Amino acid sequence: MSGQAYDPNNIFGKILRGEIPCHRIYEDDDTLAFMDVMPQSPGHLLVIPKVPSRNILDADPAVLPKLIPVVQKLAKAAKEAFEADGITVIQFNEPASGQTVYHLHFHVIPRYEGLPLKPHSGQMEDGNVLAANAEKIIGILGN
Ligand code: AMP
Repeated sequence: MSGQAYDPNNIFGKILRGEIPCHRIYEDDDTLAFMDVMPQSPGHLLVIPKVPSRNILDADPAVLPKLIPVVQKLAKAAKEAFEADGITVIQFNEPASGQTVYHLHFHVIPRYEGLPLKPHSGQMEDGNVLAANAEKIIGILGN
């Protein structure tokens, strides 16, 4: 059974085209990383490929090796920037799994001993807080 087609009007497609803003942390030829606007923990960020795919099920396998080193780089930077005890990496595929935005993405979420995650797609964070959090991670990447 073939899956659904990629819809270029999804919100991350719009971010990639510069049609809506984001709190950008990192960018290279193949990937973009920015703050999640409804963080499940301070420092929650997303890593996306520039090449369109709905999720991991329809992604070009050649794109995947470009993503994971960036996920690792940002996981390490976010752990340091937010003095986290650990990092959760999550990636959802299709609504049954919890996916709500249909452009492949990896969540990178700082974690603390004994602290549960806030709800997925829960409360919108203040833009100034997101900007400051992005700067914290950018500061670590710059070192
Ligand atoms: P998922 O359920 O994995 O598809 O998650 C989509 C994520 O994107 C959620 O964690 C949302 O909080 C986040 N999100 C939605 N809109 C935006 C946006 N404009 N900028 C950054 N993150 C967003």
